[in-house]
Amino acid sequence: MEKSGIRIEDLHLSFGETTVLAGINMEILPGEFFAFLGPSGSGKSTLLRAIAGFGPAPRGRILIGDRDIADLPPWKRNVGMVFQSYALWPHLSVRQNVAFGLEERRLPKREIDSKVDAALELVGLLQLADRMPAQLSGGQQQRVALARTIAIEPQVLLLDEPLSNLDAALRVQMRRELLALQRKLGLTTIFVTHDQEEANTTSDRMAVLDGGVIQQIGTPQELYDTPANGFVAGFLGTAN
Ligand code: ADP
Ligand code: MG
Repeated sequence: MEKSGIRIEDLHLSFGETTVLAGINMEILPGEFFAFLGPSGSGKSTLLRAIAGFGPAPRGRILIGDRDIADLPPWKRNVGMVFQSYALWPHLSVRQNVAFGLEERRLPKREIDSKVDAALELVGLLQLADRMPAQLSGGQQQRVALARTIAIEPQVLLLDEPLSNLDAALRVQMRRELLALQRKLGLTTIFVTHDQEEANTTSDRMAVLDGGVIQQIGTPQELYDTPANGFVAGFLGTAN
């Protein structure tokens, strides 16, 4: 599929009186691995959910390529999202979990099978296709969640702290795998994390978010060398 970038223009979102996204403006290039870094409560998940079309509709524009997706239902946005909690169906096998989104699209069975196999192959889990989620480790479960998302061939991949439930050593391994997969597929990716090392070691560029406002956007090197303000300097200096 043709690569598309994302452009977000003046995005605002409030829950009642609480402003959670206070005017987000940014552009992500086609094929870019873009990290969103920020403390808990800064609006990272809300932003991803707004792009995916979950939750209340924000004000502003969200473009994928030149298509404004802000008013489309989630399934028409060509966006795939992976969550911290994996969100697998416990009563379905690995294969059935990965097939789920494709079945919703009413594709022919043979086509579904081949897409599922290809996605499981990409994450190295073809051998475990008939297991149930409870029979897998956390890392394997997250690979299934990734396969399920890749199988629908999204234009944009949204990752909401996908590695946060894994132990430290596995987290390092998985982020390498994730980056290798992203490069192989050339998928425009937004990776949300509160872990600065994770953002530094993966991203082409990153944004630091606080209070629903982007504090700075740039390469990891630029943010470390020339933090735009005290918040960025403090956050990059002290977070772990
Ligand atoms: P992050 O992912 O950066 O930790 P979130 O986007 O989850 O932050 O949350 C940002 C803010 O929005 C928090 O103050 C949170 O309490 C609030 N919030 C998130 N979801 C809801 C909701 N459904 N209703 C009310 N407030 C919410
Ligand atoms: Mg979050």
